Amino acid sequence: MKLSKFGQQVSGRSGIKQLMDDLGEALAGNTDMLMLGGGNPALIPEINQRFREIMLDMLHTPKDMDHTLGIYAEPQGNRHFIQALAELLREEFHWPVRPENIALTNGSQAAFFMLFNMFAGAFDDGSHRKILLPLTPEYIGYADVGLEDDFFCTHKPRIEFLEEHLFKYHIDFDNLNIGNDVGAICVSRPTNPTGNVLADDEIDKLKSLAQQHQIPLIIDNAYGTPFPNIIFTDAKPTWDDNTILCMSLSKFGLPAIRTGIVIAPEQVIAAIAEMNAVLNLAPGSVGSALALPLIRSREIITLSKEVIRPYYQKKNAQARQYLQQELQGLDYYIHNPEGAIFLWLWFRNLPITAQQLYERLKQKGVLVIPGHYFFPGLQENWKHADECIRITYAQDDNVVRAGIKIIANEARKVYE
Ligand code: PLP
Repeated sequence: MKLSKFGQQVSGRSGIKQLMDDLGEALAGNTDMLMLGGGNPALIPEINQRFREIMLDMLHTPKDMDHTLGIYAEPQGNRHFIQALAELLREEFHWPVRPENIALTNGSQAAFFMLFNMFAGAFDDGSHRKILLPLTPEYIGYADVGLEDDFFCTHKPRIEFLEEHLFKYHIDFDNLNIGNDVGAICVSRPTNPTGNVLADDEIDKLKSLAQQHQIPLIIDNAYGTPFPNIIFTDAKPTWDDNTILCMSLSKFGLPAIRTGIVIAPEQVIAAIAEMNAVLNLAPGSVGSALALPLIRSREIITLSKEVIRPYYQKKNAQARQYLQQELQGLDYYIHNPEGAIFLWLWFRNLPITAQQLYERLKQKGVLVIPGHYFFPGLQENWKHADECIRITYAQDDNVVRAGIKIIANEARKVYE
């Protein structure tokens, strides 16, 4: 079969597909595989219990159940959910958000596909624009969503060394040149894969740069506040009429139901609704129906603050302790974990590539993600990208501990 350019592009081997395949394969075949690779959030008993209760309520209210399953939502997404969320955001953050500023998508991954291709690619005047990722490493899921080549640009970060084998990336504003070829700026905050949380002044600078260049600033808030609130610093959330904030119900505990949320100027929301209609007719309704009572009661905020954040904060501290015990004597650094569900490990001067380390670890029964996937748009070869791996600590503690032990043993062998 002869495939179009688009067909070839989407059937090429993407990092995100390898990640999802590894997850599925390992789960189907080898149940002993220690899954420190994928980005699946943890199954948190209190959250699961709450969703079971809400589902039971729905089952006992046939009209709710029948409407949720049997009627298409509007292309913009379930109207009641959107209204309730706009109210919550106005109340919580005093943002002037109206229902016209919110659209739902089938997962926020789909929203990035739509948004990035809206703001980058070919333009009427013959120009070509890119998405600027001002900090790299960035989320692996962005890397392959562009429908055209040469889709991203980025800059190497500044590295700050902290105490106890910790380090932190900062945006290198001195070298951040925003030319006419940039169509939008995007950052994940907290960042996947590093757990970095851009400081308020970094976000303010990005906001004013975006204003100055009349391009939007897209903030990926998949782990941020007000839900799921997997953020361990007190970074201030932000939204205005030049900011597009993307959120998700996935890390709150509903990854399988695929509900993404875009909060943006009306013109952008109208375009998302159009694309939803073309691609899906309408976004799915089950996620918004399950979360609606939690939004209305504001429980989504208390559960995030009192259950989800402490749950991950504890696991984070535990995983860091395992790493510090096991990696003693090696030339390693951990990115300061300020949020999200990952630890980003840097093995300085690693004698093999992170891809080779990944393959050796897979043989030994532990899955991680090699670092080089997380540098979309970086043109130059940077050895650092081949010295890092991402691990998740969302799994059971015994899995995390056993996985870390194997990673440490293998890294030690490699250095020796
Ligand atoms: N953005 C970031 C930073 C993520 O880590 C993820 C998922 O892992 C997504 C977006 C996409 O999430 P979803 O499509 O499940 O909403």
